[in-house]
Amino acid sequence: MELNICHLYPDILNLYGDRGNIITMKRRLESRGISVNVDECSIGQPLDVDKYDIFFIGGGQDHEQKVIAKDLPSKRDELVKYIERGGVGLAICGGYQLIGQYYETAHGEKIQGLGALPHYTLHQENLARFIGDIEIRNDEFGETYLGFENHNGRTFLGEGEKPLGTVVSGHGNNGEDHSEGAIYKNMFCSYFHGPLLVRNRHLAERLIDTAVKQKESGE
Ligand code: GLN
Repeated sequence: MELNICHLYPDILNLYGDRGNIITMKRRLESRGISVNVDECSIGQPLDVDKYDIFFIGGGQDHEQKVIAKDLPSKRDELVKYIERGGVGLAICGGYQLIGQYYETAHGEKIQGLGALPHYTLHQENLARFIGDIEIRNDEFGETYLGFENHNGRTFLGEGEKPLGTVVSGHGNNGEDHSEGAIYKNMFCSYFHGPLLVRNRHLAERLIDTAVKQKESGE
């Protein structure tokens, strides 16, 4: 078996070693005897989602996010098609904000997102940030996830989205409702840098298990 991973905007959105998420998935798949291709797709490059089994988009600062926001409309139809058919994906921090409806920069400027998922992100006054170690619990999966968060944005989930977990310690999506991250179909989102899948191997296994099963059943 051969799996294809698409890393979106790797040259622009890659904070705190977010690329480690790709390396983790690749290594874990290869240890199962599955070969893995990683393609990169950035600004101005065409995207054909039918080729891919896993998508990844990392985090970035407002400046980089504004640059990406201009390119997103050209990839919108393909990415929405992929997410709606239950394709496996992971979006971190700035990438998480950008696949939602819109987000506000730290200075309050509203930036249009991809609009593929229903969440939206507001800013915090006075450039305040949620920074530090974070622990969350997903009771449905019976799993605990550890990470590091550093964001100004306050994200609020929409219809059809569940949180990745409930905050045990730290701030999470918005510092109010104790949610962290989002799950929509097989699209997973989180503010966790660290990177998420390096520190939380059970979550890495969950993502690749789903992608492998889809590949096996020819979905
Ligand atoms: N600009 C975003 C925020 O601060 C994203 C930051 C990030 O990706 N670390 O909320």
